[in-house]
Amino acid sequence: MPVPTKNCPKCKKEIPETAKYCPECGHKQPYTVHKDQRASPVVLTRKERQLRQDNLLYVVGVVVGIIMIVFSIISEGINLVWTGLGFLLSAVGGVGFIITRVRIWRNRKP
Ligand SMILES: [Zn+2]
Repeated sequence: MPVPTKNCPKCKKEIPETAKYCPECGHKQPYTVHKDQRASPVVLTRKERQLRQDNLLYVVGVVVGIIMIVFSIISEGINLVWTGLGFLLSAVGGVGFIITRVRIWRNRKP
């Protein structure tokens, strides 16, 4: 099966269509959509990476909040301060998680 080719816009040499850089002159190739590239992992933007970090932080908040609730319940008598803090933390984490998810989704839309 022949490899699909294109011509480098700089040196006009025939190069593989999927090449990101020209093997002849090293010129960066304009992005071309190719069916083989669809399976390749999505390149994350700096913004999305930041959002994903925030998201992870919120998930940790929810988990820590739930642990606080569980511990305050299984320990001797329910500690209202810890239970309250746990609920607050998991609520804030949950809301933050949803907001960040929506922002990632909106960020990804073209
Ligand atoms: Zn070239």
